[in-house]
This record gives sequence, structure tokens and C-alpha cells, in this order.
Amino acid sequence: MHIAIIGAGAAAVGLLDALAVSGTGMGEITVFDPSPHLWRGRPYGPDLDSVLVNAPPAIMSIRHLDFEHYASWLGPERAAVHRDDLLGQPLVPRALYGAYLADTAEAALAALRERGWRTRVVAARVVAVARSGGGLRLALRTEDGHDHPADRVALCVGGGTPQDHYGLGGVPGFVGDPYPLANSLGHVPAAADVAVIGSGLTAVDVAVSLAARGHAGRITLVSRSGMLPHVWQRPLGHRPVHLTAERVEASCREHGGLTLDDLAGLLRAELAETGEDFADFTAELLAAGSEEPVRRLRRQLAVVGDPRIGRRVLQETAHTVGPYAWRLLPEPDRERLRRHFRLATSVASPMVPVNAAALLRLFESGQLTMVAGARKIEAVKGGFQVRGDGDNLDADVVVNAVNPPPQAVPRATEPLITSLLTDGLATLHLSGGLVPADPRLHVVGDLAGGGPFITSSIPGVAAAGARTVRVLPAAHTG
Ligand SMILES: Cc1cc2nc3c(=O)[nH]c(=O)nc-3n(C[C@H](O)[C@H](O)[C@H](O)COP(=O)(O)OP(=O)(O)OC[C@H]3O[C@@H](n4cnc5c(N)ncnc54)[C@H](O)[C@@H]3O)c2cc1C
Repeated sequence: MHIAIIGAGAAAVGLLDALAVSGTGMGEITVFDPSPHLWRGRPYGPDLDSVLVNAPPAIMSIRHLDFEHYASWLGPERAAVHRDDLLGQPLVPRALYGAYLADTAEAALAALRERGWRTRVVAARVVAVARSGGGLRLALRTEDGHDHPADRVALCVGGGTPQDHYGLGGVPGFVGDPYPLANSLGHVPAAADVAVIGSGLTAVDVAVSLAARGHAGRITLVSRSGMLPHVWQRPLGHRPVHLTAERVEASCREHGGLTLDDLAGLLRAELAETGEDFADFTAELLAAGSEEPVRRLRRQLAVVGDPRIGRRVLQETAHTVGPYAWRLLPEPDRERLRRHFRLATSVASPMVPVNAAALLRLFESGQLTMVAGARKIEAVKGGFQVRGDGDNLDADVVVNAVNPPPQAVPRATEPLITSLLTDGLATLHLSGGLVPADPRLHVVGDLAGGGPFITSSIPGVAAAGARTVRVLPAAHTG
């Protein structure tokens, strides 16, 4: 079996590791990626030390269900150096986490070679995949015009770079893609008034890193919703026993399908284990949607040690059970959830307390402000103007911190996706993303069609990689 993996980011690492652990057969693996920073993908390449991982170690393990895998790699000394006192856990720069991914990938490839697999990395972008040999094989074409045969293809191409919602590409002073911040922020004059588009985790990275570089100008987070991510709570090592994939599957069998009410029932049972009230929990959650963001930030930062498990369970299961449960829900229930998209994203992908504290300091000093209801950002003489519900805002620099939604086709991947659609190897899902139409094709990560609206995290791509390995050998050639 010749497996081709397109893309060498976290999803590919999870897949290779699962393959190495599984003991699956023997054959050949070729990984394609033009990036100079193999195995790190978009988030985990070299960058400023202020660009931190957004989650505690148990959640950053690329080996599916092995919650200690990353923590063991990090080891006690590095863990102590990077310990975040508020979280009570180590939080490392994302570049260091990238070294973990690279080490894990290299170890997986070495283990596979020991078992007789041949492995190869091709530093080139794949621009097309098509059937060959009368449909018996698949052929990948790289941008240098070479063809590469394969029996199975795993697409691990990630989510791509931010979209340019305001058409500012090429305007001096506009940063279209902030990563690596070591490069993009290096061009921002210290006294410049900076407007950051977005108020999610990337916007937090930008504001915190500007401050860490000693930025003196005003920083404004400009967004439609004005919703900041929630703040991580200190991990308690609690593992859900009711809101699990197994219980979702059982509930589905019992009721002949899954509804949002079934999921709520599982969450209610989970909370009952620790004596927490479901109605109180949901009321508090929904109230966050209308609470003044800085007030909420301050309040959440003060209770990172709150022993209640509700938010922790929801945060974790949104990534682990969520992608599976989402596909089983009827469309009206999905629509109900979509209406809470900003709140759900804010809960599912919280900011680490050290960043929350830095943000709060910036807000309290008056250097950082937030503008909700932005509708238009225009280049004007000598800078930019932000127009929205309130007063217009002037800025010298605009940093785009809005990531593409999951299931969006990355721009750089369009020729490849077009070739898959043209050859009938895949179709586009009605609500976005790609669905394989041939059992030899697999999509791992955010591009997988019909998935939820929450961007996948490390546990999500690790789970998807492990699932893919289970079905890889079963595919029939067609
Ligand atoms: C800025 C940022 C920070 C994040 N931080 C965290 C965090 O702290 N914790 C967490 O759990 N999750 C985090 N996430 C979410 C998640 O971990 C990442 O999205 C994860 O890296 C996804 O991995 P991936 O392999 O699917 O995609 P990517 O990491 O984007 O990798 C895709 C790779 O595919 C390659 N590629 C694309 N097209 C082609 C092609 N045609 N041919 C060959 N190669 C191609 C690219 O060069 C790239 O290397 C973060 C996401 C972002 C964007």
C-alpha cells in the first residue's frame, strides 16, 4: 500500500503517529509539503516567545487519547521553566510545541521504517490528484510537473490563511496574515495606532505580542461581535463519563437518532455527578453573550480556579465529541447551535490566563480598546478609517486577525481541490468542506465536509488521524 499524505502539519503528524502505533502492514509513505518548517503547519513555526500554545498539556497531545504524550516529551525541567502560575500548568511558546510535533513525526517515520515501510518527504505543493491506470491507482501531480503514484491519499492541508474581508490586500500598513508575528509586527512602528481586525485568539496573540515588544501606540480590537474568548480554567483532570462519543452512539441507537435535547441530557447527567445545576449553568453561559467584555474578562480571570466542571466539560467535548455528534444532529438542531456560533467559539477555544491578564492590563491602562459593530475599513490618506455603528476610528496600521471558517477551501489549495472535483474523487458538502467520493481518499482536519463550525484543535486532528488509520487498509480500489 502506497500512502500519500498531502500537507505536513499537526494533522499529518497525528496520522503518522497513529499509523506507527497501530502496527498496520507494510508499504510506502510519501509526505508532500513545500513549507520550510515541516511538521509545524501554520501555527507552530518559529515565532516570538510571546506567541504561546492556547491550551494546557493534556489537551496538546498529538497521540489520540494519550493525555500524557506531550507532557512526557516536555519533561519536568522544561515544564517548570514554562509553568504558568495562573493556570498551574506549563504553557510553552508555539515554536517549542512545533519541535514536539517534529520530533513525534520523525519518531513515527523511524518506527515505520524499522517495520519495513519506505518513507519519503517531497518538498513540493500538490496541485492535482486524479485516477490513473484505468482507475486502479491514484496519481498526484506536484507543482514542478512530476507525477507520483499512490493507493491512498490523505488530505491534511489545514485551513489556510485569513480572508481579506475589506479588500485591503497590498495597501501599505495592512498586514494580511499576521503569522509569524516575529515578521509582521517587526514592520509596525512603535508609536503607530493599530487596528486589529477580530477579537478571537489571533487578535489576542497580536495585542499581547505588540505589548511584549513595548508598543506605545493605541491598539483597538475591531470586530462585528465584540466577543472575546472565554478564559481557560485551571485543569482538574476531570474526564467526562456521560458526554462521551460512546454514550452519544448508544443514545443514537436507543432513540434512532440524535437531537440537541439528547446531548443536553448527557451534559445534565455530567453536571449532576458533581451536584451542579444544568439550568444555572446554561443561564450563566448565555448571559456571557451580553456581558460587557472587559467586565467578563476581569470576572473570569478572578475565577480560573472555580471548581465547577460545567465549562471545562463543554470546552473539552466541543472538540472531542462535537465533530462526531454534529454530523448526527438534524439540520434544525444544527441551525439552533449556529445561532450561538460566537458564544460557542468563545467557550470552546478560550484564551490562556496569562494572555487574559496581559489583555486586562492593556484595557485598564487605556492602551487597548474594543470596537464592536465594525462594517467597513477603508484606506484613506496616510492610513485607514474604520466605520461602524459608533464614531469612525483612524488607524496607521491594520492587522488582519480573522481566521477562515472551518471547511473553507484554502486559497493555495484551490487547484488541487478542483482536480479532485473534476475527476469525481470528491464532492463539496452543502454546508462547506470536502467529502470523499472514493474510499481511497481521506480528508483529515478542518477541510472535512459537514463538520462543525468550531475550528479543530490538536485533540480534534489527533482523533481524526487515528480514525483515518483504522479505515486506511479497508479501502477498495475502484
Ligand atoms: C494560529 C493558530 C494557533 C493555534 N493554536 C492552537 C493551540 O494552541 N492548541 C490547539 O489545540 N489548537 C490550536 N490551533 C488549532 C490547530 O492546532 C491547528 O489548526 C492545527 O495546526 C491544524 O493542523 P493541520 O495539519 O490540519 O493544518 P496546518 O497546521 O495548517 O498544516 C497544513 C499543512 O499543509 C500544507 N499544505 C497545504 N496545501 C498543500 C498542498 N497543496 N500540497 C502540499 N502541502 C500543502 C501547508 O504548507 C501546511 O504545512 C491553532 C490554530 C491556529 C491557526
